[in-house]
Amino acid sequence: MNIDLSIEKVLNKLTEVVRCGDCATRLRFGDKECPHCGSDLDDQLRLWSKQMLEGLDSPE
Ligand SMILES: [Zn+2]
Repeated sequence: MNIDLSIEKVLNKLTEVVRCGDCATRLRFGDKECPHCGSDLDDQLRLWSKQMLEGLDSPE
């Protein structure tokens, strides 16, 4: 695996805007629940992590 490419992918993913699935409030990195509606973000964070890992696995 090309570590520089992987770092690039992680950094790109971190700059993505993540929004609450319930009220669309923009979330800050590290939030465990929505600051607006209090919705638990665990599922959303897991999906986000899964997408990042899949991105790292793909050749492009
Ligand atoms: Zn919310």
